[in-house]
Amino acid sequence: MEILKVHPRGYCYGVVDAITLAKKIARDPNVPRPIFILGQIVHNRHTVLELEEFGIKTLDGGLRLDLIDQVPDGATVIFTAHGISPAVKAKAKARGLTCYDATCPDVTKTHTLIKEKIDQGYSIIYIGTKGHPEPEGAMGEAPASKVALVTTTDDIASIPFGPDELVAIMTQTTLSQWDTQSVIQELLKKYPKAEVHNEICKATQLRQEAAVKIATEVDMVVVVGDRRSNNSNRLVEVVEKIAHKPSVRVESVEDLRREWFEGFHRIAVTAGSSTPTPITRAVIQQLEEWGKVHQELP
Ligand code: SF4
Repeated sequence: MEILKVHPRGYCYGVVDAITLAKKIARDPNVPRPIFILGQIVHNRHTVLELEEFGIKTLDGGLRLDLIDQVPDGATVIFTAHGISPAVKAKAKARGLTCYDATCPDVTKTHTLIKEKIDQGYSIIYIGTKGHPEPEGAMGEAPASKVALVTTTDDIASIPFGPDELVAIMTQTTLSQWDTQSVIQELLKKYPKAEVHNEICKATQLRQEAAVKIATEVDMVVVVGDRRSNNSNRLVEVVEKIAHKPSVRVESVEDLRREWFEGFHRIAVTAGSSTPTPITRAVIQQLEEWGKVHQELP
């Protein structure tokens, strides 16, 4: 069995910068303690555990706007790569918390665009994943009455904006580029004059395109990534829907099952942009081990 490594895969620059910043803050003795991160810095529990060893506590499981209330007075709070709404920043500032912002520049770009469009009188249709922190942060840049979240085409009918209103369509950075195009096409039927801003980031696009391309040459694609990682789940989805090949997501080497690969000759491995390199390396090594045994069998 041959194992092919997909390029690019794994950590993107936004994730690397966020983790580097968090560790730098933890090493600085002048930063007030305790130090908290509002939500998982990236959606990967291995990274969360690693930061815990640096003395950084992750607050998770809910809206950032509510989580901030759990940060005690006098403490430090780090905002994650997914971005943060102005309402959360204002709450933190009002309480005098020490704040650090690890928002990815690609996410900040969307925030800036939403603010600009709101100032110009537009309403925003934001295509994103319900319950994900990135939509919470980005949509928080607009008054609630001027922004609508769309996850699938089923949500389009309930958008409250009229067909003649000024409308700008924006997207989350980590969506499937193919699914998003079909949602945009449906939206344009209702809002033919809408301005479209596809905000899927370069790192996401390149990882998806590489996975789809290699999928045509292999029997299966293994995606290494956390169950909550939007970009990892999208990698599985694009391999299955666009390349029509089987794909499986594993969080670590422990999730691998040898029987999945029975009768397969070529397996590709990729990883979401929030997956630490050692986790992916362990998966590749295990598959290579099994591959060797397979090749040695008569
Ligand atoms: S996936 Fe894209 S938007 Fe998200 S942190 Fe990485 S580069 Fe930034």
